[in-house]
Amino acid sequence: MMKVLPYFIKAEHNEEHDNEYHGKNGPLNVTKIRHQPESCESFVEAGSALYNYNDDFNGEDQEGFGYYQTTQINGKRCSAAKAYLVPALKRENLTVLTDTHVNKILIEDNSAKGVECIDKDNNTFIFHATKEVILSSGAFGSPQILLRSGVGPANEITRHGIDHLVDLPGVGKNLQDHIDYLTVHKYNSMNLIGFNLMYPGFEDGDMGILKFAGFGITAPENGMPLLKLMMN
Ligand SMILES: Cc1cc2nc3c(=O)[nH]c(=O)nc-3n(C[C@H](O)[C@H](O)[C@H](O)COP(=O)(O)OP(=O)(O)OC[C@H]3O[C@@H](n4cnc5c(N)ncnc54)[C@H](O)[C@@H]3O)c2cc1C
Repeated sequence: MMKVLPYFIKAEHNEEHDNEYHGKNGPLNVTKIRHQPESCESFVEAGSALYNYNDDFNGEDQEGFGYYQTTQINGKRCSAAKAYLVPALKRENLTVLTDTHVNKILIEDNSAKGVECIDKDNNTFIFHATKEVILSSGAFGSPQILLRSGVGPANEITRHGIDHLVDLPGVGKNLQDHIDYLTVHKYNSMNLIGFNLMYPGFEDGDMGILKFAGFGITAPENGMPLLKLMMN
């Protein structure tokens, strides 16, 4: 974890926290949900009395009750695209292609030399890299592209008629799902309704229905929270 922490810190602008776990000068804005209704305050207060208050689930300790921070700015989602791409759109050395899929990374001599893409009209074309290829297609997309490029476990790749170029048995193998169980209760008040007015004209709409407080019950053998309770 300590190996990637410096990069998270570099990416982050945290409106509330500024310490060894958080950054203040990055493009990705992180802050608390602004709307904190009374009922959630009661949830946090009751939970904190039993299991401690936690002001920062992404800090030293993950246990306790408190309020979530999310990647957002002025009440709206601050995605990677909003934080990084939009401010860079005017750069002359940047071209953004939409409706275009990466089929595979072109590998020669164990090194990534470019990418093969397909557009919405089924045209295939190639980009050659002068320096490097950065793969950032998410939890499903990245391993899928690697497998199509011939990087991964041999049996998974060759059975689709793809040349096996690099043996990396872990590719596509370690996706961790987190199971959600929802209990729904009637509550006779408007107080819990979370507004999410993220439409044109509602520029200042408050982000998110997913809002509040979680906590972990520690498994003493590994020191990690096993369970998260959330009030939405
Ligand atoms: C509902 C929800 C809420 C979340 N809230 C938070 C939060 O508040 N804070 C937080 O830190 N994290 C949050 N996360 C997690 C966070 O969204 C992910 O960890 C993060 O988006 C991962 O970023 P990424 O760039 O690796 O991948 P992604 O954001 O998944 O981006 C991958 C992109 O690659 C594209 N792609 C895939 N395959 C191809 C292909 N073959 N060719 C071209 N493009 C391709 C996809 O269309 C996608 O646009 C949330 C996740 C969810 C689902």
